[in-house]
Amino acid sequence: MRQKRIILKRGKEESLLRFHPWIFSGAIDSIQGEPDEGDLVDVYTSAGDWIAAGHIQIGSIAVRVLTFDRIPVDGEFWKQRLGTAFAVRRALGLVDRKDHNIYRLVHGEGDNLPGLVIDIYGRTAVMQAHSVGMHVDRYAVAEALTGIMGDRISGIYYKSETTLPFKADIERTNGYIKGGPSDDTPLEYGLRMPVDWISGQKTGLFIDQRENRALLERFSEGRSVLNMFCYTGGFSLAALRGGAVLVHSVDSSARAVELTVNGVRDNFPDDTRHSAFARDAFRFLDEMEPRYDLIVLDPPAFAKHKDALKHALIGYRRLNQKAFEKILPGGILFTFSCSQVVTKEQFRMAVFTAAAAAGRNVRILYQLHQPADHPVNIFHPEGEYLKGLVLAVD
Ligand code: SAH
Repeated sequence: MRQKRIILKRGKEESLLRFHPWIFSGAIDSIQGEPDEGDLVDVYTSAGDWIAAGHIQIGSIAVRVLTFDRIPVDGEFWKQRLGTAFAVRRALGLVDRKDHNIYRLVHGEGDNLPGLVIDIYGRTAVMQAHSVGMHVDRYAVAEALTGIMGDRISGIYYKSETTLPFKADIERTNGYIKGGPSDDTPLEYGLRMPVDWISGQKTGLFIDQRENRALLERFSEGRSVLNMFCYTGGFSLAALRGGAVLVHSVDSSARAVELTVNGVRDNFPDDTRHSAFARDAFRFLDEMEPRYDLIVLDPPAFAKHKDALKHALIGYRRLNQKAFEKILPGGILFTFSCSQVVTKEQFRMAVFTAAAAAGRNVRILYQLHQPADHPVNIFHPEGEYLKGLVLAVD
């Protein structure tokens, strides 16, 4: 088998026995065979037993485990993993629909493929490597992907310029590694979504809010909606289709506002209910009249690392307090956090504190999370990142 080896310190195999897919650098006793960053390595316990194989990388997470079974990591391996991921999306009813063609096919550790994200937008797959190993293996993955998806996809766009560790000694490029642009329209439950995978954030759309947008649609009839941090305006489209009387979308990025306006025009031509503003959220909330009875707060991750946790919680409290102070009586607030380091209890506490400070009576109607095509590996609870609350504000 492979010659490149990691030997763990005594006792450090414990988390691997529970199938946790990360090996931290502090757990390693020695490295043999001079692996390059991104290489596949075999992992041995201090007693000399083979325990796992995975991609090695410089950094605090030193190995991302691909397999706990002693099998080759080859074309067949990628096909098997992608096939399993595809079967789940099919079981979820997300595949081969006329009115819907956007879903996450691979969600990293959640699909036992640490470091890899693949999103499907109609006939285009957008592939993102978050580890050097997945970058090194990108062509093998793309080939397996073609095998699994067949003629469902005609192009694979590789987008890892911003997701790979900046220290890694590799060439960073974005571009099609198979086929080219397709002229079909990405659809989310019948809505035409403005997706720009070439220059947009993430792979072009926050697919993870799909089910929450669908839920918002059901609350929208007759309401005045503020969609704060709108990005490409998905919640605004849902609110418009749900019968909102007015929808205002706000994002600090002018490009995001432009995408939102285009999306609204594309789905609801000549509709005068919508306006969009390129403004800072905090200032907008401070300066606005209390005129909304449905507000969405979906900010970017306030904490990207544990060190930023305290500030992030203060940020969530301040933001939510401003919304509680202005939302009309009988209003509904959809509020989210996508910071992985913020637990749902911490987020709920920040929102609770905000409601108390604003002196509003608040009831929790729904507790929201990431959708099923962003699965959480039960052995990797860190994979749970999106949390949200739907609140009735008296
Ligand atoms: N709700 C969106 C996703 C939001 S992503 C959806 O369903 O697709 C977070 C957005 O917040 C980004 O578009 C970013 O440009 C915007 N943003 C970041 N800081 C901001 C600020 N201070 N004020 C307003 N928008 C901000």
